[in-house]
Amino acid sequence: MLWQHLLKLLMNYIKMKKTLNTSQGQQNMQLDLKKTTPIVCDDPECGNDMFMPAMKFRKVSKLMTGTTEDQIIPIQVYICTACGKIPAGFDLDV
Ligand SMILES: [Zn+2]
Repeated sequence: MLWQHLLKLLMNYIKMKKTLNTSQGQQNMQLDLKKTTPIVCDDPECGNDMFMPAMKFRKVSKLMTGTTEDQIIPIQVYICTACGKIPAGFDLDV
């Protein structure tokens, strides 16, 4: 879950930077992307650095939730755009 959190922070940063660039011109950003490291696919033969969101679903028994129907929980994960695998850090910890 940590990677998802970091990715969200990075996406927010990119969004914020775009907004600043269009509305106020170049701003002095504290975070230098050159000093960050890329996250790449776990597969040693892949090494791709791009991912896209995909959904996993978990079913929770009605016995656990106390509701009349089983519940389905959607969970977003990220898959490699080249090989389709989920890097360990992006996958569910189950
Ligand atoms: Zn891959």
